[in-house]
Amino acid sequence: MTEHTAPQNLDAAQAKAELTRLADLIGRYNTAYYTHDAPEVSDAEYDALRKRYDAFVALYPEAEPAESPAHAVGATPDSAFGKHRHLVPMLSLDNVFDQTEFEAFINRAVRFLGLSDTQTQELAFVAEPKIDGLSISLTYEHGKFVRGTTRGDGTEGEDVTANLLTFKDLPQTLNGPAPELIEIRGEVFLSKEHFLALNAAQEAIGRKPFANPRNAAAGSLRQLDARVTARRPLSLFAYAVGFCSDKLPSSHSAYLEQLKAWGFPVNPLSRTLEAASSAEAFFEEVARARAGLSYDIDGVVYKINDLTLQERLGFAGRAPRWAVAWKFPAEQAITTVKSIDIQVGRTGALTPVAHLEPVNVGGVLVARAT
Ligand code: NAD
Repeated sequence: MTEHTAPQNLDAAQAKAELTRLADLIGRYNTAYYTHDAPEVSDAEYDALRKRYDAFVALYPEAEPAESPAHAVGATPDSAFGKHRHLVPMLSLDNVFDQTEFEAFINRAVRFLGLSDTQTQELAFVAEPKIDGLSISLTYEHGKFVRGTTRGDGTEGEDVTANLLTFKDLPQTLNGPAPELIEIRGEVFLSKEHFLALNAAQEAIGRKPFANPRNAAAGSLRQLDARVTARRPLSLFAYAVGFCSDKLPSSHSAYLEQLKAWGFPVNPLSRTLEAASSAEAFFEEVARARAGLSYDIDGVVYKINDLTLQERLGFAGRAPRWAVAWKFPAEQAITTVKSIDIQVGRTGALTPVAHLEPVNVGGVLVARAT
């Protein structure tokens, strides 16, 4: 068996061993990425690993390890921070990579809701650039900012209130009438310009540069000393509401207008699409605009606009059924194979490992490949 052997060519015992190996790797890479803000492998390699994991689970569901890190959202909050429990969990998003996968997402939602053809054609979406940062939950009581929390493991996050108080984009008080209690969700990010400047400064003092703007934003916000965060020019876009004690608008587009009225920065490229058939054209439009934006994005998020439908659809595992991230293709790079070793795994599996001329893929220096 090699790391590429297809699930259907293995017996149940081998599949179990392979699933355990993949789960251990996913857990280890999650910790490096979410807890230490320093990925060990490129996103493409991580995503390929997860795809292989899912293929094995589809064929051998009983062989899946208990409490697999593959079902986790993010990672356990770092104990160095105070912990805070989200009133509404902060989850992830399912990904699609092309029109066919996007249509499959629509079809699943339509089947779940039992919509007629006309209703399907009139199903409106809000499409928003997927900001390459880290998600944040901002709690306001009677319109006053009281707490900011990272996503953490989706249930409990790290309290980063002091760090957020250093942000100029963050409203301390909401403009106009505000609910008694509300959790506002958004993305904290670092512009491309500030990301490059931060990495240059890191290297100048002999520190490891951040792999990408997402890791740089996370590493800058998740600081124990808020004075360090204050020196990093982080920005914010708000895009959702978690818990709210009062009745909210009936559509996501109206939410976004409310967020703007309260004083939050909302991404100016966000757009209401009257039908799913406009999704691909919008994706291409955003893809063309990508290089000219001052911040990094890694795709487009499509959200069903009607909140009643969102509620009916709910969540499946670690992601909502009413939203999907259409991701840009993974970055590729060309390099030279210097040598190849054969590794022998615990189960006797032979895996060829190529030693490469180190090459930068999405900010991670890749020197070996299996
Ligand atoms: P994700 O980043 O793919 O998608 C969910 C997140 O998108 C949300 O939590 C939110 O923070 C963000 N987002 C940005 N703009 C948004 C918008 N407009 N509306 C809603 N959400 C928006 O999910 P994830 O579970 O955080 O991470 C998975 C990603 O992280 C994958 O791309 C994976 O490759 C990468 N990852 C890489 C490694 C590695 O070792 N290289 C390890 C773990 C995860």
